[in-house]
Amino acid sequence: MHQSPGLLAYMLLGTMAAFAAFGWMLGREEERLSKLALLDELTGLANNRLFGQRLEECITSSRRSGKPLSLVLVDMDRFKSINDNFGHQVGDMALKAAAGVLRSSIRASDVAARVGGEEFALILPDTGTREAAKVAGRVLDGLRGSSIPLVDGTHVNLSASIGLSGGVLAEGESSFALFAEADKALYKAKEAGRDRLMTA
Ligand code: GH3
Ligand code: MG
Ligand code: MG
Repeated sequence: MHQSPGLLAYMLLGTMAAFAAFGWMLGREEERLSKLALLDELTGLANNRLFGQRLEECITSSRRSGKPLSLVLVDMDRFKSINDNFGHQVGDMALKAAAGVLRSSIRASDVAARVGGEEFALILPDTGTREAAKVAGRVLDGLRGSSIPLVDGTHVNLSASIGLSGGVLAEGESSFALFAEADKALYKAKEAGRDRLMTA
């Protein structure tokens, strides 16, 4: 039996369209799942898992290129009192605002992550501590400049303490060491009165 060329073309196009639609749906699903697994839901920043992956990648390429990398740890100041005084919802708004400040303080090749409840981290490839300190300064300024408006017309002010570590990691020196150094500096920033940067 002979089918007309028109009918054949129609069947072929129909099959192709069906496959294309199916492929598109699969692609979208994959994208959705990967976002769910790797991005923080509240802020849209990288989550802890993606942060860990990217940190290892950046350390590897820093060792290969001999260029330094910096790690910036940001812990919101007195965040518990924001929740206690104004409610968890205002706390969540503050976290989103902080994420916005981080995003606008970095380059496209940098990584901004939410690594804990009110703790964030920046990975800055090809960046020494001096340059990284400027980025941290922008974060501190950005947070000081952003406040959360309340229904009664008042505002909640935001600040954070920041610890910074960086350089080219020595052979055998792990990401944990880099993280521990930044964390120690962060602790010092808290002790010294908060709303400031300390470099390891
Ligand atoms: P410090 O200046 O010493 O860092 O004080 P802090 O209050 O920020 O530190 P602490 O670790 O005592 O409290 C952190 C608070 O962050 C407690 C917790 O309720 C709040 N938090 C953690 N995750 C979330 C979140 O997803 N949403 C909101 N709204 N709050 C959160
Ligand atoms: Mg904390
Ligand atoms: Mg805190």
